[in-house]
Amino acid sequence: MKQEDVTKDDVAKDEWRPCPRCESKRVDTMSKAFFILMFLGTGSMLFWLGFLFFPFFIISALLMLMAPLGFILPKMYQCKDCNYTWTKNDL
Ligand SMILES: [Zn+2]
Repeated sequence: MKQEDVTKDDVAKDEWRPCPRCESKRVDTMSKAFFILMFLGTGSMLFWLGFLFFPFFIISALLMLMAPLGFILPKMYQCKDCNYTWTKNDL
């Protein structure tokens, strides 16, 4: 029986580089799911705040609409040492 060792995680961490600012190798890859959850989470929170202060409704709606953009965002990296964040396109 053939064992498949390649998981989605292995594909995701294919090519990362040291931090362009401090050249640290402690680099985190930020997943697209993280951004989508962040947009949706913040959006739903602001939705409830909208009952107190109407403009929050608008911001909430905008965040919800932006959530799908997480799918087309380039992969992002964050340095654990200096907190510098960059994308593949920045290099
Ligand atoms: Zn760094």
